[in-house]
Amino acid sequence: MTAFTLQNGTLHAESVALTHVAEQFGTPAYVYSRSALTAALQEFHDVLNAHPAGAGALVCFAVKANSNLAILNLFARQGAGFDIVSGGELQRVLAAGADPQKIVFSGVGKTAEEMRQALEAGIFCFNIESIPELDRLNDIAGELGKKAPVSLRVNPNVDPKTHPYISTGLKAAKFGVAYDDALALYRRAAGLANIAVTGIDCHIGSQLLDPSPFIEALDRILALVDQLAAEGIRIHHVDLGGGLGIKYRADQVQPTVAAYLNPLLDKLKGRGLKVVLEPGRRLVGNAGLLLTRIEYLKAGEEKNFAIIDAAMNDLMRPALYEAWHDIVPVTPRPGVTQDYDVVGPVCETGDFLGQARPLTVQPGDLLAVMSAGAYGMAMASNYNTRPRAAEIMVDGTQVHLIRARESVEQLYAGEKLLP
Ligand SMILES: *Cc1c(COP(=O)(O)O)cnc(C)c1O
Repeated sequence: MTAFTLQNGTLHAESVALTHVAEQFGTPAYVYSRSALTAALQEFHDVLNAHPAGAGALVCFAVKANSNLAILNLFARQGAGFDIVSGGELQRVLAAGADPQKIVFSGVGKTAEEMRQALEAGIFCFNIESIPELDRLNDIAGELGKKAPVSLRVNPNVDPKTHPYISTGLKAAKFGVAYDDALALYRRAAGLANIAVTGIDCHIGSQLLDPSPFIEALDRILALVDQLAAEGIRIHHVDLGGGLGIKYRADQVQPTVAAYLNPLLDKLKGRGLKVVLEPGRRLVGNAGLLLTRIEYLKAGEEKNFAIIDAAMNDLMRPALYEAWHDIVPVTPRPGVTQDYDVVGPVCETGDFLGQARPLTVQPGDLLAVMSAGAYGMAMASNYNTRPRAAEIMVDGTQVHLIRARESVEQLYAGEKLLP
């Protein structure tokens, strides 16, 4: 996390003091580092370019992790594709300059209208998750006189050993088609007039710090590719989904992209399969932080609270998954350290960003909630009629506002009084 460093006693994003960002744009605010974003994607491209099985590979950023147009545009300029899960995300990535031929469309509930939009845009592949979805896509492609490129999302039944809410590849998950049903589904797909079977995909979960479940999943996928080939159904690309974890604690170790990817590429060598990846968190998580100011310090009967101007509506991960984010003072001060629950003003007991954090702070101090670039702003809501935070991109010494703070008027603009 070299993008955010202490310089002259103040936390900086690249070369810009976060105190300066707070003065200019207010708090709470998400602050991203351009160089951290591009370096994260480059790490994937470098590993793929260095391996024979990486030729022609496509890295599709999972848009749901962070859908800001400026970030999507940066990745598009760097050659990335996109993994989308809605018509809204399709519109976003096209507005950000995405190449339609680098878009994969995931998700269990694609509507007819979303399928139409994606067929008309000419996307690279639909990742299909059920029989009725396959049949609907066939019908709609037929109406439009098109052939829909399809991959089946196979559920390899591999335990990713991560939080249950972000495990997606187990038998009990709503995602994907059961491994044992996959052959039959491929046969059906191959027989449909307006479907072109092009690939196979899986996505087993998120925030994986041990790469071994990915290898297990790939073994199962490749066994299926061989069975399909024996039946004359040729697979052109293998999409291994996303899920590579990041460090949320300064003392955590995150696997390198090479450590994750090279064993997978070794297995794919000589098969002539195009590799598609869908990293989300790994490309943006450590490249962003949530900048917030302490409003009050409050001594409770059992605990001390640092009440900040950010809340669960800005960053939901702690409330939703009991996720950990390091929380650090922007301008560390000497003095007595106390344990604080760092909480927002929202009327929910679950409204905390950190619990029992040793901090030396005063009211008015700025705090940085680290590693908040993924599933941060993307999951933000307007609960308690709180306008969503501003988003800022730092690029060297330059500061760019990439999303203005919402106004309260915007929040109720679509609402109508009764006559
Ligand atoms: C969420 C998701 C991803 C991205 O997951 P990360 O853990 O953020 O890398 C990729 N593919 C699919 C289908 C997803 O649902």
